Amino acid sequence: MIQSSKLIDLAKSTIISSVLDIMNVNYSVIDPNGNYITQNKSMKKTISRGLINAECIDKSSWEHCKKIMKKKQKEIKEEKFKNKFYLSLKQPLIDNGKCIGILIISFDITKQKHAEITKQEFIMNMSHDLRTPLSGIIGLSNLQATDGTDIQDRQYAQLIHNAGYQLLELLNSVLEVTAAEHHIESIKRDILDLREFAKELQALVQPAVVARLLEFELKLDRDLPIVIADRVKLKRIVLNLLSNAVKFTKQGKISLEINLLSIEKNQAKIKILINDTGIGIPQNKLDKIFDRFYRVLPSSQTEYKGYGIGLFLVKKAVELLDGEIKVSSQEGKGSCFTVIFSFPLSKEKLEKISPPISQSSLSKPADKQTQSVLIAEDNTLALHVAKKLLYDLGYEVTTVMNGKAALKALQTQCFDWALLDIGLPDLDGTEIVRRFRQWEQKNKKSHLPIFALTAHLEKNIVDKCKSVGFDYVLNKPFTEKDIQIIQKIIDQ
Ligand code: ADP
Repeated sequence: MIQSSKLIDLAKSTIISSVLDIMNVNYSVIDPNGNYITQNKSMKKTISRGLINAECIDKSSWEHCKKIMKKKQKEIKEEKFKNKFYLSLKQPLIDNGKCIGILIISFDITKQKHAEITKQEFIMNMSHDLRTPLSGIIGLSNLQATDGTDIQDRQYAQLIHNAGYQLLELLNSVLEVTAAEHHIESIKRDILDLREFAKELQALVQPAVVARLLEFELKLDRDLPIVIADRVKLKRIVLNLLSNAVKFTKQGKISLEINLLSIEKNQAKIKILINDTGIGIPQNKLDKIFDRFYRVLPSSQTEYKGYGIGLFLVKKAVELLDGEIKVSSQEGKGSCFTVIFSFPLSKEKLEKISPPISQSSLSKPADKQTQSVLIAEDNTLALHVAKKLLYDLGYEVTTVMNGKAALKALQTQCFDWALLDIGLPDLDGTEIVRRFRQWEQKNKKSHLPIFALTAHLEKNIVDKCKSVGFDYVLNKPFTEKDIQIIQKIIDQ
């Protein structure tokens, strides 16, 4: 009897370490100075392969451990050693309230990571390849919808344009999810008047509110300051929440409330509330609604449409802006989403904020001289659309379809500005600009504004474009809005 209970105890004490060994999971214990106290077989193998230091923990991992010892709370973190990726759980070991070491359990996730990177590249390339012909369809159908001679043709073209646009939006959402999942988004610092921002959002949801016979209430704190924040991401957050509020409410009221909680050390703490009197969310589903592709009811069981990615993107954007999001809800009564951010106060004057782009500012001011523009684009459809848009607004347009011709035109002709596609067949757009800027400097020419046009608006591409000397990077498809952006930059 004694023998068997001893055996069980012995088995129990070795079971976890054996399982971890079989599963090839590393575990180790470090003391408060970062020295290893013990390691399992798998960890020893990793060390012998030279991936990790033998005596003490790696420097970056050690910084993380120090944080955990201080907080006395376990954390899970992705780590990279040499070319290997690990998912590590670090558990502080507490004795009499004091942290006497850390237990580290890490899984090798290199294979999954590589698969993820391949998937990401595939999605990015696919969306680029889809976006280029789609841009042509959207642009040309738009021209046909306004310029077509026959009414029915114009209507059909409008329908093609709308469908193309919807497809482009779907493609953009896929890209956004990929970008959010891989943390490849950068944070912009825009000057933001929160009052104007709220009114802009109200105007955007108003048509849907009216169509559903709902009421909309906007409650803005009198003291809302002007802050520095990423306008696009904040808009994505609030607009998604407002759109859901409208979508899931059949009668009653939607409200958007923005309050200033405090101002401390030049930081304004802002609370944004989005309330609705809609169908509500069951209590046991509240923590799931932010998961990717999660919907309380699948599309087959409900009239409400959606892909279940809105709140996932909202949560990622809130995390990126260092904010927090909460939700409370009562089934059948309604929901309330609360987002809290700390934004730095803006020191600049409000006049510097770019005015919202309005349709009326589309036409070129009459008192301006005709501007001469170079467009370099190898896609015939995209070239035609950009040329027609500019031509109709009174610009003088020269077009080329390859990189060498673009460089030659830039060096031999006079333009007010140029628009270059990045992916030209012979000379890449960035290479053209790099060479042209050198030539410009050598020959003491004044700076020519050059704009990049790309279907890949990822941070590394934008950074590369800026570093070689592009003035601004525009996303395909090229539309009237882009002409306004260009004009605003040139007029500065
Ligand atoms: P979807 O595109 O399906 O709306 P979201 O990610 O935006 O995707 O939302 C996920 C799910 O959360 C929705 O399908 C819905 O079940 C629930 N939900 C989100 N917002 C609300 C709301 N204001 N009222 C009721 N349910 C909501």
